[in-house]
Amino acid sequence: MPTYQEALSINEQYALDNDKEPTAVRILLMHFSGLSGAELLARMQDMMQADMYQRFRNAVDAYVIEHKPTQHITECEHFYGYRFGVNENVLIPRFETEELIGYLLDYKAELFGDTPVRVADIGTGSGCLAITLALEDENIEAHATDISEPALKVARQNSENLGANVTFHAGDMLAPLQGQGTFDILVSNPPYIPNHEHVEALVKNHEPHIALFGGEDGLDYYRAILRQAESIMNGRYIIAFEHAYDKAKEIRKLCKKYLKNTRIIQKKDMQGKDRMTFVLRP
Ligand code: GLN
Repeated sequence: MPTYQEALSINEQYALDNDKEPTAVRILLMHFSGLSGAELLARMQDMMQADMYQRFRNAVDAYVIEHKPTQHITECEHFYGYRFGVNENVLIPRFETEELIGYLLDYKAELFGDTPVRVADIGTGSGCLAITLALEDENIEAHATDISEPALKVARQNSENLGANVTFHAGDMLAPLQGQGTFDILVSNPPYIPNHEHVEALVKNHEPHIALFGGEDGLDYYRAILRQAESIMNGRYIIAFEHAYDKAKEIRKLCKKYLKNTRIIQKKDMQGKDRMTFVLRP
């Protein structure tokens, strides 16, 4: 059997030779060995167990040959330090979306301090936004919607596994929240890829199209949310969106059209791309 070091370098090279990411191999090795990055470093010269090596090798082939996302092989993704279960029915949580949480918690503190607030997460998918917000701040009462029952199943399971207190509602966008009281914060990372835009195969062939595509210009769901938003919001509110990097101007325009007397703040993600819009109504 190879050592961890050998297993890593042989399979990283195998990935590279097939135009795949070597970092994915490290992620798979950590997952199938149960070792953290630091533990793996410390044990590089240890021999791997045969059955563990076999499971790891099968996983590498699923990634390199079958082109599966590593998150579908390990059935999880880490988001804001929490482990979320994922499958083909939900969008895999992205790093950019973690940044939305960070800013939103700051603006929440600015506008609401420590008072209890009700949050609505529209199109929750894996549940990553609603669940993380509920876990990070005990003053948040989180509600989340999704039109996809199989997605809600994943989200409910994640909420239970992580011990979050989130109420899930099945239905289209804001519809299931009508009559559920009013909210202080609305957050959404809706499907935002224009229908005919090119999408890389790893995403297009594995992630649910219902979670990816947002109409001809990719803005359908922002319009749908903004048109109805004030019907479920309190007088003082925050609305937080993730969006495509090249749509910041249009999003600002839409927010101005539907929401009056607000302060609009737009933020770049860590890659320097215009990725988030926050609307504050003090
Ligand atoms: N809200 C979920 C996320 O941010 C799902 C988003 C989506 O399906 N478009 O990952």
